Amino acid sequence: MKTCYLCDVELNELNKSEEHILLNAIGGKLKSRDLLCKECNSKIGNKPDAELARELNFLSSFFQVDRDRGENQPLKGGSTASGETYDLYNGTTPVLSKIKYKEEQTNQGVKFSVTVRNERELRKIFTGLKKKKYPGLDVEDVVKKSVLKNEQLREPLNYKQQVGTDISLKSVLKSAIDFYVFIRSEKEEVKHLFKYLTSSEVFNGIKCFHVDDGFYQIGVGEVSHNIFLVGDKKSRILYCYLEFFSSFPFLITLSLDYGGESFSSSYSYDVILQRKIKKTFNFPINRVIVETKILHPNIVEIANRRLLRTMGLVDTGLFHSFIRKVVEKERAKMLEKYPGIKNFNEEQKNELLSKVNPRLSEYIVRNGIIVERRK
Ligand SMILES: [Zn+2]
Repeated sequence: MKTCYLCDVELNELNKSEEHILLNAIGGKLKSRDLLCKECNSKIGNKPDAELARELNFLSSFFQVDRDRGENQPLKGGSTASGETYDLYNGTTPVLSKIKYKEEQTNQGVKFSVTVRNERELRKIFTGLKKKKYPGLDVEDVVKKSVLKNEQLREPLNYKQQVGTDISLKSVLKSAIDFYVFIRSEKEEVKHLFKYLTSSEVFNGIKCFHVDDGFYQIGVGEVSHNIFLVGDKKSRILYCYLEFFSSFPFLITLSLDYGGESFSSSYSYDVILQRKIKKTFNFPINRVIVETKILHPNIVEIANRRLLRTMGLVDTGLFHSFIRKVVEKERAKMLEKYPGIKNFNEEQKNELLSKVNPRLSEYIVRNGIIVERRK
């Protein structure tokens, strides 16, 4: 019988909960219903998980990660050099964060300059103006005469984001503990950490951990979430390496007094291909590295290089997610057209391709994309 690792209540069909070991909002798929009861799950999860999701949203949004629940959130708070702010939808579409409104007196009367995001907002603004200030205003006339324009944003958008704050690191710690209990089916070695999940006390055993390349192989075009967990009987250390989007790596010291057997276990998930991948980790870790607070001397350079690499793959990621959406949509239409069908025959496959191909060509031409081939 499985029990909740936090409160020890026996888990049954009524009280068990789905716990994402890797956060679903960033595209994590690894989950278990044998870890936490509903009550504990909602008690410890919400705030840290939401904060980590927010901090990593720029990558979730750029890669349009596949989520079980909810939609990808727009990327908020981008600003141009000229001071305009934009939100980025679907990883690519900038939309003004705020309505732009200007009113000036001219010889011919009052002149309004308004930039809104849709007709509903336009109607709302002028209905308000009519009510409060200009009763003679003909709202329908304004709406009719307004011009809808799609414009290219000519300036780069700047975003600032910190990843790994005291609150979000609780979510990182939870993932490491979840993974340990999930793999080892025991909790004695990590239960001294539970207080950090259930209180606001800050856990100091997590550090940003960039190591030199070669610690594991990374495929061409790969962007992945990685967990690597090690227990070492001889040196009595238990640690977890957890990395998001091949860019943000953390080393979590779970125990410096580990009394269990030696083991290692890992899990990797490619967010572009949206599937689990196999990886071998050659971890250069020993007790000194785990205990020390010293970071790699070239940490900034390595961190920048890795993030730049990941950002360079955004186009590929968006193209993949576009293909997926188009194919899924056309496939659903086909299933509607041929109800009860299990496998498409050649003719139907060609029909599907004839629907999908023009949309892909259009996308490639429009975005000038050349997609790198994966190994
Ligand atoms: Zn519980």
